Amino acid sequence: MKAILLRFGELYLKGDNRYIFESMLISNIKAKLAGLVYKFEKTFGRYVVSEYDIQKEDEIVDRLKKVFGLYSISLAQQVDADAETIKNLVSTIKIKTSNFKVVVKRADKTFPISSMDFAKELGGIILSKNPDVSVELYNPQTTINIDIRLNKKAYIFDDIIKCQGGLPLGSAGKGLLLLSGGIDSPVAGYMVAKRGLKIEALHFHSYPYTSEEAKDKVLALAKQLCEYVDEIKLHVISFTKVQEAIHVHCRNEFMITIMRRIMMRIAQKICLRDGLGAIVTGESLGQVASQTMQSMTVTGAVVDTLPIFRPCLALDKEEIMEIAKSIGTYQTSILPYEDCCTVFLPKNPVIKPTLEKCEKEEGFLNIEQLVDEALQTEEIVTLKRD
Ligand code: ATP
Ligand code: MG
Repeated sequence: MKAILLRFGELYLKGDNRYIFESMLISNIKAKLAGLVYKFEKTFGRYVVSEYDIQKEDEIVDRLKKVFGLYSISLAQQVDADAETIKNLVSTIKIKTSNFKVVVKRADKTFPISSMDFAKELGGIILSKNPDVSVELYNPQTTINIDIRLNKKAYIFDDIIKCQGGLPLGSAGKGLLLLSGGIDSPVAGYMVAKRGLKIEALHFHSYPYTSEEAKDKVLALAKQLCEYVDEIKLHVISFTKVQEAIHVHCRNEFMITIMRRIMMRIAQKICLRDGLGAIVTGESLGQVASQTMQSMTVTGAVVDTLPIFRPCLALDKEEIMEIAKSIGTYQTSILPYEDCCTVFLPKNPVIKPTLEKCEKEEGFLNIEQLVDEALQTEEIVTLKRD
């Protein structure tokens, strides 16, 4: 019978928490496979998915590859862990390369033959059925793995499919991703989600200065992230009044810095209101004037009770783009719609703003009122994976 063997890695490091992590991982796997028929089995150190419709195998693999906390999977043949049965199955294997190796692993030490001896014996069987190939122990083109588990089943497979790694979604808590239409912020969301942070998203638009399409683009990006995180609650807020007020009352070169500080204040209010424990942005050190150390100091200064996670901080644009391509957000991110940050853009933004100067400029605004008014425009859209 065909079966998929699932491996998880880092959970082992978690001591007593391991059980909590494992039950989260299992429920995330089941949520990801919702709508499909299959059997799920837990055996020490592995999970097994079997009794599924073979036509759906590719889809199951594709979905499992997007579960954080799974390290790899293998498409295997499952048989009873009995030497004769295994030998019979192995004798039908056709080796398609010029050399191979057999690796036997026994999680079940009661299996009567040692791993080494059994590997030699099985190798001999394969050789007798595939006379043109040879055994290559150090750098084999094909590895036939025989994995004997504690559930008294053996799994025979030749391929290991890499998955996401990371930690089960939700195991790190929940945060709020500041999601623009750009390349970086969807990647930032993916990166923290991979480390177990469930995410909601917050987008600021400046309608009518920004178009309906610009907002649709952000909805599309959030939807693409749902491939990994299943569901995103997106908070959409109008930033128009805030921007107009800054434009009228503050020095132009402080526009972006003050915008960022107000975005952060709004984000913090939403987090405290809705029980979210961190703010996540797509900022990368030195990428633009608003992402210098000094700019981050003054934007971070308005957030006093939460951490700000900037997972792209130390990545080059090229590296961020590579991740964006691999998670499927890149093509949407490069669509040419304006972001709210490009409206009223200053010619020479301050590169090293000081807190003192920012606060002086903000003195010309009624910040509390602007924040509250912006919050009143909040719309909530919940996106789900198809
Ligand atoms: P991105 O590709 O994420 O847009 P960027 O290089 O264009 O990044 P900025 O426009 O300077 O960067 O924005 C830095 C971060 O601020 C973004 O990564 C995002 O987290 C947040 N941000 C910017 N604009 C918005 C917006 N309109 N709504 C919500 N968050 C935003
Ligand atoms: Mg942007």
